[in-house]
Amino acid sequence: MAPSSRARLSIDLDALAHNYHAIAAEAAGAETAPVVKADGYGLSAGPIARRLWAEGARTFFVARLAEGEALRRELDHRAARILVLDGFTAECGPRLCASDLMPVLNSVEQVAAAIAFAAGLDAPLPCALQADTGMNRQGLAPGQAQALAGSGGLAGLTVDLVMSHLGSGAIPDHPRNRQQLAAFREIRALFPAAQASLAASAGAFLGPDYRFDLVRPGISLYGGGPTERPDPRLRAVARLEAPILDIRQLSAGDYVGYGTTIQTDHATRVALVGAGYADGVIRASRRSGQAWAAGALRRLYIVDMDLTVVDLGDGEAAPGDMVELLGPHALLDDLAHAAGSIAHECLVRLSSRAQRIYLGSEATQTA
Ligand SMILES: *Cc1c(COP(=O)(O)O)cnc(C)c1O
Repeated sequence: MAPSSRARLSIDLDALAHNYHAIAAEAAGAETAPVVKADGYGLSAGPIARRLWAEGARTFFVARLAEGEALRRELDHRAARILVLDGFTAECGPRLCASDLMPVLNSVEQVAAAIAFAAGLDAPLPCALQADTGMNRQGLAPGQAQALAGSGGLAGLTVDLVMSHLGSGAIPDHPRNRQQLAAFREIRALFPAAQASLAASAGAFLGPDYRFDLVRPGISLYGGGPTERPDPRLRAVARLEAPILDIRQLSAGDYVGYGTTIQTDHATRVALVGAGYADGVIRASRRSGQAWAAGALRRLYIVDMDLTVVDLGDGEAAPGDMVELLGPHALLDDLAHAAGSIAHECLVRLSSRAQRIYLGSEATQTA
């Protein structure tokens, strides 16, 4: 096979910029602060963040301290505000300061550790506070936030941002959204000088009540719909393609690949595509997944280690032709649904084996 038998992952920075502005327009009046954790949802935080900076983003979120340190370098020490969602421990204080990273404090223990650390500093330590308004994952309980606000219990800290996270934002009518909104309104009132933020991608599309001062989109920047379905307002950022290695004729009733679970129900031609787990194709997506081949969406039969088999039907194709496994036709949310997963996981799994190509400039196209 030709040397091009490697899968190709194209990352469209113009599509990223389009999505950023689509979200910013939806959340007009609020700051749009990209979430670039997990290495920019698998698409490389550096080029992603540099382009978003060029488009106007000034606040970024990462999960881990090391991601924040890397992002500071990737942004070439631009004056971005970088928040670390994991928060604060005594050991990470000096590293947070050295890279000018802001911790998101998630518990009374983290608050206490930050206060102890800040006592040794010349200036107050800027931080964000996360409150748990009903997701039951991370954040101070409302009573704990109240106690801290009331007792002046944040000595040495400046609370720049108070935030919470929605558990059911992808289901717009879910009553939990309004419950969390009501709880968050009470908490943000305790910190009138701080910016307030409740919405991730899903919340940014829930309407003005959910915007507050800042929205924190992740997946929708990368093309995932806010309700976990394809959304025409957003463009695909990642496109995974791989070449056809061979074309085979199968008869009705043939078993395909390992085991006896996948069987053809009609005579057909299939394409053997050179991509598999190491390129980020998820095995479970064979259940109802589709790839774009020979100008149409076509059923995925199997995903094995390094090979994916696609039903070509009446499509005309030849070895060497590229098949799109994810992208503007084989949509991220559809693939995630087929795999019994969500867009976030499908993107993060796009691995390093596929050859990466960045389309569009890291600098803004509109300036
Ligand atoms: C990951 C995360 C986000 C972004 O979520 P998306 O669903 O990808 O938009 C926002 N806020 C917090 C606290 C997060 O953990």
